[in-house]
Amino acid sequence: MSRSVGEVLRQDAALLWHPYASLSEPGRVRLVRGASGVRLRLDDGQGGTVEAIDAMASWWCAIHGYRHPVLDRAVRDQVAEFSHVMFGGLTHEPAVALGERLVEITPAPLQHVFFCDSGSVSVEVAIKLALQYQVARGRHGRTRMLTVRGGYHGDTFTPMSVCDPVNGMHSLFTGALTEQVFGPQPPAGFDRPADDPEYLAWADALRAVAAEHRDQVAAIVVEPILQGAGGMYPYSPACLRLLRELADEYGFLLILDEIATGFGRTGTLFASEHAGVDPDILCVGKALTGGYLSLAATLCTTDVARTVSDGPGGALMHGPTFMANPLACAVALASVELLLGQDWSAEVSRISAGLTAGLAPAADLSGVKDVRVLGAVGVVQLGGPVDLPRLTEAALRRGVWIRPFRDLVYTMPPYVCTDEEIALIGSAITEAIAEGN
Ligand SMILES: *Cc1c(COP(=O)(O)O)cnc(C)c1O
Repeated sequence: MSRSVGEVLRQDAALLWHPYASLSEPGRVRLVRGASGVRLRLDDGQGGTVEAIDAMASWWCAIHGYRHPVLDRAVRDQVAEFSHVMFGGLTHEPAVALGERLVEITPAPLQHVFFCDSGSVSVEVAIKLALQYQVARGRHGRTRMLTVRGGYHGDTFTPMSVCDPVNGMHSLFTGALTEQVFGPQPPAGFDRPADDPEYLAWADALRAVAAEHRDQVAAIVVEPILQGAGGMYPYSPACLRLLRELADEYGFLLILDEIATGFGRTGTLFASEHAGVDPDILCVGKALTGGYLSLAATLCTTDVARTVSDGPGGALMHGPTFMANPLACAVALASVELLLGQDWSAEVSRISAGLTAGLAPAADLSGVKDVRVLGAVGVVQLGGPVDLPRLTEAALRRGVWIRPFRDLVYTMPPYVCTDEEIALIGSAITEAIAEGN
């Protein structure tokens, strides 16, 4: 690098927005010098570097780790052919092959694929499909989405409108956001039985909300089984089954946002499999390319595809510039094959057991409210807001990169972490929390 670390960081702070950040009081950022396997190599500010296990997998994407030879090769091979072509009037093998593979591995009724550039856009497309579907069915007043509190579906406007109204900062955008229909958050806990009183009360509330808004709702939109950025919050498969029933009863479509949960993260390839529920529309993103490039996909049933295509617009009205980018499709296909070519389920179970053991001691710390693990997701919930700079620093000193938010310290590590690396993530998180108490 031709200039000093200090200068790069100063320019970064002056010029660049970071996620959910202020330019007046920029938070500390660290300079990445490299990344390979499960480790980031960070500049130490003294002419050297320090390594840290990426316990975040680059926001849940890098399931195979960095510089994976198979994924590196997939990108290089595609660059040597062509990097991008428009998708209007043209097609290419990486898109077709990836589309085939996604249709094969997702729930059986999903038969058609729309490729776009980010998770948020895939949710926009899902909602557009649902709105066009209801218009084509002649159900004209159905312009709203039904969702539950606590969700997260992305940062563009329509996804934001179905995010939790409080966590999603709806108050900042009052008047600019579509007012969606919100039911209560499902009661916490993957293992909650279907005859549990809290579940039954929730189900009654949801039935009432659905009935009340039956003529306004086009689709139900939720993250199946695990709400991610809304709170790292698992809920029971029974809740998802009820949403499917309500959708069928009232002619709503069911949109499942598996952008965070897809590709094995919760222990099944897609989280909806825990409930045996098939959506009408499915969104995938994040881990789709193994964290190499930005790509997402919206899948739908033949009923949805035909109804929209034969409806008044005569087409699905969406078409991004970088739709089905060949580099992204090629590396996504390689990443999916890499995942399916191994016993990924055993790897996720192994990580799950390691996180359960590693985070258990955190439950006894003062200031800790809850410790929970589902699949390869480990969460420690504190009694109040996290001290982000302190926790980040304390974990880094122990060789682990984390990015806590709100009251949550969590990890969604790459699946290729060894048992020792998972143990280190568990102890680093636990000790970092203990240090501040
Ligand atoms: C991250 C995420 C999104 C948004 O994806 P982007 O690629 O950041 O636009 C949407 N839904 C869920 C469940 C997510 O976790």
